[in-house]
Order: sequence, then structure tokens, then C-alpha cells
Amino acid sequence: MAVRGRLVGSAVSHWGADPWAGGSWSLIGRHGTPRDRTTLGTPVGDRLRLAGEATHPTRAGMTHGAYEQGLAAAAWAADLGHARVAVVGAGMAGLAAGRALAERGVEAVIWEARDRIGGRTAGVDVGGGAFDLGANWLQQYDENVLARLAEKLGLTMVITDFNDPLVLNGEPVPDGLEDELRDRLAAAAPGASMTDVLDDLLRAPGRWTPAEIHRFVDAEIVMDTGAPLSWLSARHGFEPGVGEGDRWIVGGYRLLTGHLADGLDVRLNRPVRRIRVEPDGVVVSGDDADLRADAVVVTAPVPVLAADGIAFEPPLPQAHRTALSHLGAGRVEKVVLRFDERFWPEHGYYRVHGPADTCMSEWLDATVADGTPTLVGLFAGSWLDTLWTGPDADIASRAAGVFRAAVADR
Ligand SMILES: Cc1cc2nc3c(=O)[nH]c(=O)nc-3n(C[C@H](O)[C@H](O)[C@H](O)COP(=O)(O)OP(=O)(O)OC[C@H]3O[C@@H](n4cnc5c(N)ncnc54)[C@H](O)[C@@H]3O)c2cc1C
Repeated sequence: MAVRGRLVGSAVSHWGADPWAGGSWSLIGRHGTPRDRTTLGTPVGDRLRLAGEATHPTRAGMTHGAYEQGLAAAAWAADLGHARVAVVGAGMAGLAAGRALAERGVEAVIWEARDRIGGRTAGVDVGGGAFDLGANWLQQYDENVLARLAEKLGLTMVITDFNDPLVLNGEPVPDGLEDELRDRLAAAAPGASMTDVLDDLLRAPGRWTPAEIHRFVDAEIVMDTGAPLSWLSARHGFEPGVGEGDRWIVGGYRLLTGHLADGLDVRLNRPVRRIRVEPDGVVVSGDDADLRADAVVVTAPVPVLAADGIAFEPPLPQAHRTALSHLGAGRVEKVVLRFDERFWPEHGYYRVHGPADTCMSEWLDATVADGTPTLVGLFAGSWLDTLWTGPDADIASRAAGVFRAAVADR
């Protein structure tokens, strides 16, 4: 039988291997609490402050959390009367900080390691269309400050209902299981991991079957975190965000980051290796140049900081280092697939179980962007170790095979 829908273009992310990300978004490990996020974002004296999504106490892991933390860091530096501020990183937090500083009349110089702006928002052109390999949705839409900016810019946005995915194969998650699991996670002992709580539930599963429990965990926890469950905090590993009002931007996040970067002094290909705080200023050092300023705002992601990707002199305070050790990042990868023909039912968002147990993927139908049949797939879990190997074209073709098989199973 002929295969319907020929793949005519693709793009593949590699967040797990990206040296400037080290994963997808920050998460709280079993020994951590949300206080670690606040501690990490607490200014270190009057000249150094860490910002970025990981420092937001309630909106971590999301672009609007990063943006808000960039604004907070800019206000801190401007209120202290600094005239020239270095910003490390041109992702959402760094761009927000740079723009807010400029608006307060403070000179801001942004050093970015990559050859592009946007950080973990990563626009990609595939077959004439613009899509996202990083952040896709404006989450918590009604209370999302970036959503207000997108509206002001007149961007076109499309609603996704994460609470109503079309499950292409396998059974949907049964009602009531989420509530029960959330209650158990909230009541978990400090220091307990997700695995500890799940093992308890599986030992006495009550009215649920083990298969239902595993399916729920794959769909709601593994897909939302991409982290090992034995590391992830039971109490704090399931943070708010997804399913509270989500819209994606036609044309991609670059429409926001491009606007924010307009007119700013952003220097690309400038990885920061060392930051020295002196009594009368800071010295930010790259491979072959120094940047002097009155203060510095650092927005590098948690895995970069935890791996000592930037050497701080003097070292970060013990409280900050402890907070860093309690946080981490999972791995969620994305693929954009363009086809010559649409071969799937219309729904908007899809969940696929398989090809084996614990293999989960979720899919956005992005065809509305320009009329060309397009899917954006999200993958997480241990099967990435075998799925995400070899050339990108092979990964894309394997990912397309997963979706095709699920459609064929219906
Ligand atoms: C696959 C995926 C899907 C996602 N989906 C969503 C979503 O739908 N909605 C949502 O709200 N969020 C989503 N997120 C999370 C969101 O992308 C991030 O929370 C947000 O973009 C983080 O912004 P940031 O400025 O804190 O960090 P980043 O965007 O990581 O910016 C930090 C910048 O610092 C640079 N940098 C790092 N180290 C150095 C150094 N030593 N010197 C100089 N520069 C350095 C990096 O290159 C980067 O540009 C997703 C993320 C991923 C990966």
C-alpha cells in the first residue's frame, strides 16, 4: 500500500546536547523547593544578579517567567543607579532586561554565546514556513505579559487545548487519576522523588490498572518534564503552566524576540567564560575580550551555571550554589515535519502512545500557519536515546513513522 503524505521538509532540535542550554527548561529535583528559585534570583551584592526562567518562583520554565525576571533584574540595576550594565544571554530574559534598561536610560550591552538571539525560543525556516524548535506556546495566556505584547504587535495566535488532545492510539487517561496522583504528590515527604510516590501507588493501585497509571505518568509528567522520575521532586516537580490557556504564534516566537532586540546592543558569538566582581565594577570576560560595566545580569540556563560554564570571582555564595544543585533540566525534543498531503484527522493537538510502552509523543497540527500540511512533534522520555540518533533526516523520518503508524492504527 502506498504511504500517504510524502515528507517534503523537516527540522530537528537537540536541546539535550546544546552546550548553551543543557536541556529544555528548569525543574526542581527531589531535594529542592520553589525557595531555591527565589534564592538563585536573589542579587549577589549590588553588582551581580542571576535572572532567567529558573529564578521565577511561580512561572519558571516559561517564556513569560523569563521575561518577568529580566524586567525585575533591569529594575534592580537601574534603581541602584548603575549607568552601564552587562547582560549575559540574548534569550527572553536577557532581551527583556536589555530593553527595560535602555528604556530607563541605562546603557546595556548584551553578550550572547550563540550566533543568534532567542535562546530557548528558536525559530526555524522549514520549506518556506517559520516554526519553533524551542518554546511554542504563550502559556497561562490571560495573565501572560508577553501575550499582551503579542496582541499589541497584532500577531496571529492559535489556541491549543492541552486538556483535550486527540489520542490517536491507546486509551485516554481515565478521569480521577490525575486528582488522586496530585493529592499524593502534594502529601509526599520532603525529599521524596516522583518514583517514590509512583511506586507506592503501583503497589496498591486501587481502582486503576498499572497500565493506566503508566500511561498517565508518560502523558502528564514525562512529557511535561523530560526528566528522570527518580530525580524529580514529588512535591514540586509538577509545576503550573501547561493546560492553563495556551496559544501558539503563527510565524513563531521570533516575531517577539526580534521586536525586543530591535535597537539593542547585542553582540553575538560572545560566550562569557568569567565574571569578576570588583569594588568599583564588573569585568565580563570572553575568549578574547573583556567587557567592563557597573553591574551584570546573567541569564544563562541552570545546566550551564551548574557545570561552571561561567567562572565567578569571587565564587557565587553558598546559598546560590546549593540552590543550583537542587535544580536541573529535563530533555524534551521537537521535530517540525512538512508534508505534501495531509493524512491525519483534523483536531489541532494529538497524543501518540507507542510504538512500545513508555514511548510517548505529542503533536501540534501547524498547517494553519501557511496551508502546507505541517506537524510539530514533541518527544520526551528514555526512548530519546534510541530515537534521537544519527543524521537529522533519519530522526525526522523515524518521528514521521511514529505518527504515521498511530494514524494507521486508528
Ligand atoms: C523544546 C522546548 C519547548 C518549550 N516550550 C515552551 C512553551 O511552549 N512555552 C513557554 O513559555 N516556554 C517553553 N519553553 C521554555 C522557554 O523556552 C524558556 O523558559 C525560555 O525561553 C527561557 O528564557 P531565558 O532567557 O531564561 O533562557 P534562554 O532562552 O536559554 O536564554 C539564555 C541565553 O544565554 C545564552 N548563554 C548561555 N550561556 C552563555 C554564556 N556563557 N555566555 C553568553 N551567553 C550565554 C544562551 O545561548 C541563551 O541565548 C520551551 C523550551 C524548550 C527547549
